[in-house]
Amino acid sequence: MQFTDSHCHLDDAKFIEALPHLLDECAQASIERIIIPSVAPDNFNQVLTLSKHNSAKPIKLFAALGIHPWFLDNLSQSDLEQLTQLVRQEKSNIIAVGEIGIDGAISKRAANPEVNLQKQQHFFDYQLALAKQENLPVIIHHRQSHQYIVPQLKRHKLSKTGVIHGFSGSYQQAKDYIDLGFKLGIGSTITYSRAKKTINAIKRLPLDSLVLETDAPSMPLSIEVLDQPQAHNSPLNLVKIFHCLTQIRDESQEQIAEQIELNINQVFFAE
Ligand SMILES: [Zn+2]
Repeated sequence: MQFTDSHCHLDDAKFIEALPHLLDECAQASIERIIIPSVAPDNFNQVLTLSKHNSAKPIKLFAALGIHPWFLDNLSQSDLEQLTQLVRQEKSNIIAVGEIGIDGAISKRAANPEVNLQKQQHFFDYQLALAKQENLPVIIHHRQSHQYIVPQLKRHKLSKTGVIHGFSGSYQQAKDYIDLGFKLGIGSTITYSRAKKTINAIKRLPLDSLVLETDAPSMPLSIEVLDQPQAHNSPLNLVKIFHCLTQIRDESQEQIAEQIELNINQVFFAE
């Protein structure tokens, strides 16, 4: 069995120092590919640098470029225009636009919730249009925002689809994305036995709609599945998330692992 972490912030300072060792450990655990989304202009170059010169690394690293809804405060239209330039220039080095999206919890906490939500929607809308123009898939962040994201996706009718990363929600919310051709990123949420709604949805969804991810160093796993507490999440935990998924699903481990890799190929690595 081989695995791909479809969403990991490997450029994070927590990983950089021991990165060669971590990549060796990932390779030993059969994690063969890691997709690294960027979050803001600050980390575009780091993410691109990691994804280059793959032949010198034990596993393959891939980059996505995009602006995350948490980091819009000091950004403006010119940052979106620069992103467009960079996406065009680095087209052969990136596999998606991401991570982009809408976070309803962040806008509720903002000084002016309505203005914040409008800015998030503008950045999301612009980047969806960019993905369509450049024929790239997207990696989407959601939190309390399915009601904003689904209509935007319906309106844009992307040429490539993408992943709803860190999916949590009901069966019907999942179905809305699947009907639009999207895959759902399955991460640490399923390691918490209290996440009943999401677990029940993932049990019933078609296997060809799921991909695996850690979102490391964010999204810690439940202590229920760890041997000891961890300072932060790691791409190595992908295998633990996979084992949780195999307990939820009826298919064999091999069948699940194989189909998930096919799903990732279909979204990010199809011609
Ligand atoms: Zn992320």
